[in-house]
Amino acid sequence: MQSGNIFIVTAPSGAGKTTLVAALLAADKQVQLSVSYTTRAPRDGETHGRHYHFVDRATFESMIDRGDFLEYAEVYGNYYGTSETWIREQLSTGRDILLEIDWQGAQQVRRTFPEAIGIFILPPSVEVLEHRLRGRGKDDEATMQKRLAAARSEIDHVAEFDYVVVNEELDEAVRDLVSVVRAERLTQLQQMERRGRQIAAMQSLD
Ligand code: 5GP
Repeated sequence: MQSGNIFIVTAPSGAGKTTLVAALLAADKQVQLSVSYTTRAPRDGETHGRHYHFVDRATFESMIDRGDFLEYAEVYGNYYGTSETWIREQLSTGRDILLEIDWQGAQQVRRTFPEAIGIFILPPSVEVLEHRLRGRGKDDEATMQKRLAAARSEIDHVAEFDYVVVNEELDEAVRDLVSVVRAERLTQLQQMERRGRQIAAMQSLD
């Protein structure tokens, strides 16, 4: 069985990553989302096991000690991490998986899985980003300033990614994201693994 692809999607907060990823998952049922662990408190509308596995610091730290995480990072004072066991299980069944993580996590994942495909989502401008963040109204001013500064630092890492999707017009950005996933499945190497016999049957083999 061919192993699945790992897609890493990274974006500054406010770029529209969650919306874009949800649209991709709805459009492409072969992609499974990795649900991260976090010590951050759930926001309104977030559910345990769907948006995140919400755990306390002690639980997270014991998971670090056990080596449960493929990667983890501390972002805005909270831990976030990706379960390695789950990733390996999914890949072995041939499923593509998608990780929604920050640039620090992306660097760590690439160390274990250098073939992982990095996709960076950009807002059209910092002004639009700020407008979107303020529209959420979920954070106090101090957190807002931290998020804006963190957004610029996140964008400093764009060159570490294979693809860049600019979320100016949502439908177009969704099409771009869906296209990246499809294109990656169509590389000659992957098609040879998937359709080796079919291709060989069409060759002259002389
Ligand atoms: P939020 O609190 O807004 O849901 O996420 C804050 C940041 O943490 C985002 O940049 C998000 O990409 C990142 N993040 C979420 N899950 C993970 C994870 O499992 N690992 C890492 N390294 N970052 C994560």
